[in-house]
Amino acid sequence: MGVRVTLIPGDGIGPSITAATVRILEASGAEIDWDHQVAGMAAVARYGDPIPDATLDSIKRTRLALKGPLETPVGEGFRSINVALRKTFDLYANVRPAYSIVPGGRYENLDIVLIRENTEGLYVGIEHYIKVGDDARAAAESIALITRAGSERIARYAFEYAVRHRRKKVTLVHKANILKYSQGLFLDSGRLIAREYVGRVEFEERIVDAMAMNLVLNPERFDVIVTTNLFGDILSDQISGLVGGLGLAPGGNIGLHGAIFEAVHGTAPDIAGKNVANPGALVLASCMLLEHIGEGERALRIRRALEAVIREGKTVTRDLGGTATTDEFTDAIIGRL
Ligand code: NAD
Repeated sequence: MGVRVTLIPGDGIGPSITAATVRILEASGAEIDWDHQVAGMAAVARYGDPIPDATLDSIKRTRLALKGPLETPVGEGFRSINVALRKTFDLYANVRPAYSIVPGGRYENLDIVLIRENTEGLYVGIEHYIKVGDDARAAAESIALITRAGSERIARYAFEYAVRHRRKKVTLVHKANILKYSQGLFLDSGRLIAREYVGRVEFEERIVDAMAMNLVLNPERFDVIVTTNLFGDILSDQISGLVGGLGLAPGGNIGLHGAIFEAVHGTAPDIAGKNVANPGALVLASCMLLEHIGEGERALRIRRALEAVIREGKTVTRDLGGTATTDEFTDAIIGRL
């Protein structure tokens, strides 16, 4: 019997790229026992809820999920999918690896993993307006909540990730020169954890504005990056851009009670149902899942097959400059395995 993993195909191009990914995993010999569940609009159609209890219960059992992109329904009365998942499984680490695959890009040798704190900072949702005179919205205030416990656990996650993946350096990104309390606490917590890894993992600090520039000038210098929620949100997309965009960008949301892997892109409604979507990002997300369950070698084999097909450039999807369908691209990867 294989490892049980919850599979959520999602909306738009989700079902097609999920089917492609499952085929590639099967061809690789991975023994995964999929527990098929729904979320997003597919779940609204069936259960009237974008994140049904049955899906959450499945992930509670398996503690592992592979998820296609989801369309979040607009309108009142719907639970926010991301909030429900984050709260239920305390998904505190958002892991976004990016490395150069597509030849001829601006940068040839990038291999960066950004680890973003996912539960605190400016995204805690503590906001209000301040009334002045007649103006009920004269000012607005958003709280950036940083805790020592939250900062230490994300820093520790980053260092442990570095050790596990034989990486050399962790760069902590902050703005403690201005936000002395909240960012200062994040920085101090990171420094404290870094001491435990002296001699094993190098540690450096960067102020976020300088970091944005350095990522464009000398991105090859960076290895693992750890930062707070808002900075992580922005820098992770910047880093995806350095290696050719979202079409090959996977992400993992890791918590105390579960891990959910996904493509970073959305449901791509403009190309849904046309068999032209690039399944690459979800395939790379499934490789992260394999690594998470100790199947690193199999993950590497799949990555190498995907890279070979992309570098050859003959059987790639439109977004990568080719004319192949999703199925043809998938078959080419399987052929290389
Ligand atoms: P999108 O990522 O779906 O699409 C942006 C552009 O990139 C489109 O032109 C699309 O065709 C293209 N694209 C995206 N993925 C592709 C792929 N695999 N292969 C080829 N081309 C691809 O972003 P959007 O249009 O802003 O969002 C559409 C929907 O997706 C919205 O409902 C949004 O809420 C949702 N969304 C979900 C997630 C998620 O579940 N993780 C993330 C982002 C957006």
